[in-house]
Amino acid sequence: MKFVIIGGDAAGMSAASRAKRKDPSIDVIVLEQTYDVSYSACGMPYNIADPERDMQKLVVRKAEVFIEKNKINLLTGHKVTAIDRAGKKVTGITVQGDSFGFEYDKLFIATGASPVIPDLPGFDLPQIMGLKSLEDGKRIKSYIKEKNIKTAVIIGMGYIALEMCETFEKRGVKISMVKPGPVFLPWLSKDLADVIYAELIEKGIDIHAGYAIKEIKPSGNGVQLDCEDLTLEADMVLVAFGVKPCSEMAKDVGLNLGISDSIAVDRYLKTSDKDIYAAGDCADAYHIVTDQECWIPLALRANRAGWAVADNITGTQTRLQGVAGTSVFKVFSLEVARSGLNLKEAIDAGFDPVENSVKTRSRAHGHPGSTPIHINMVADKKTGRLLGTQMVGKEGVAHRINSVAVALHNKMTVEEFSQTDLAYAPPFGPVWDPLLTAANQLVKKI
Ligand SMILES: Cc1cc2nc3c(=O)[nH]c(=O)nc-3n(C[C@H](O)[C@H](O)[C@H](O)COP(=O)(O)OP(=O)(O)OC[C@H]3O[C@@H](n4cnc5c(N)ncnc54)[C@H](O)[C@@H]3O)c2cc1C
Repeated sequence: MKFVIIGGDAAGMSAASRAKRKDPSIDVIVLEQTYDVSYSACGMPYNIADPERDMQKLVVRKAEVFIEKNKINLLTGHKVTAIDRAGKKVTGITVQGDSFGFEYDKLFIATGASPVIPDLPGFDLPQIMGLKSLEDGKRIKSYIKEKNIKTAVIIGMGYIALEMCETFEKRGVKISMVKPGPVFLPWLSKDLADVIYAELIEKGIDIHAGYAIKEIKPSGNGVQLDCEDLTLEADMVLVAFGVKPCSEMAKDVGLNLGISDSIAVDRYLKTSDKDIYAAGDCADAYHIVTDQECWIPLALRANRAGWAVADNITGTQTRLQGVAGTSVFKVFSLEVARSGLNLKEAIDAGFDPVENSVKTRSRAHGHPGSTPIHINMVADKKTGRLLGTQMVGKEGVAHRINSVAVALHNKMTVEEFSQTDLAYAPPFGPVWDPLLTAANQLVKKI
């Protein structure tokens, strides 16, 4: 069997390795447009922050190892430009400009997502950069050093933008953030967003929410950003405005698209063509709370879905449950985490939700070093079901959110969750775990 994979990162290489492990007779061909495969994009903000750390350290497994040890036909510098469904063939062009074509029995589209770059004047200037590939990361890191960058504007206020604030600050760069939407972090409950806002202000970040960018123009060695009623000057600009699924090729050949133009797949990762699978950031998923399609581009799903595709083409039927949107990131001294739905998402999904916020402590009463933990929890009034939780704090947030994810997967009510036997010792939390306190309070509102 010829198994062709477009894209050689999380989803693509997970599928390639597993397919070859499960059935060594399969001819696995991976076509990757860059020269990098299997690297940790998630580690880039932290790596860029440290001038001493080599960016190659983010590569989990080198291309040679996949080729020599795993016997995968991995071709880097190969960009696929078209899929021929009738002829079961992909075609494309190499970095050197040569055309290529490969026939497939099963095709896996694992093309990921790409940064949204607004179609406005000046976004093509050399000082304007997005952070997606390892190549992008290397470019930003060397640009900061070589140009001795002192000021940067970050466009966008999502998690990559916030992680990069800390990165720039560690490199001694003064940061301004700007975005068109008026609300600082609209997906987070206001009381929790305020905690992050205060942290950024304390670190000296200028935050401008509600300013649509009109254009960027050169100014000395740097650039000038013009918004309505606001002008910002900087040595460089990071565009972290969000990402969009790389689904154009799928669209061009008539595969069904889903939310946000991601490639629509079933629970077995199959597209609307029975011989073509898609997964990772380019494809949609089912949400375990709503049971509806969603598009939440995160790393675990990409890796897991890559495995599932390998299973499904080698004869083991793997059906994925779905995602809870569990995510976590660090912004300066704060850990920020969420799993499931926020209040607005719960309303949009047709629930009758109620929310409650609590402020508790990260350690037991009287234990030194305790810091506040802020929790917002959402439940359905009709059924009492837990729908989602958000948390912000300096410690004890990142891993604590995982118990919420497990509760969501098991469709627990808030009352059931409030009765779970969670661990306690003074250095790690109060005797009533912060999540139990949040659940106990929310039960009273249902
Ligand atoms: C800075 C940053 C930080 C992140 N932090 C986190 C985090 O903390 N936690 C988390 O869960 N997720 C995080 N993510 C998201 C995570 O990296 C992605 O969810 C994950 O990489 C998706 O894997 P993928 O294989 O679907 O796509 P990708 O990793 O994007 O890989 C797709 C590959 O396909 C290739 N490709 C695309 N089109 C073609 C084509 N036409 N021909 C050939 N090759 C092609 C691309 O070059 C790329 O190598 C972060 C992402 C970034 C950029």
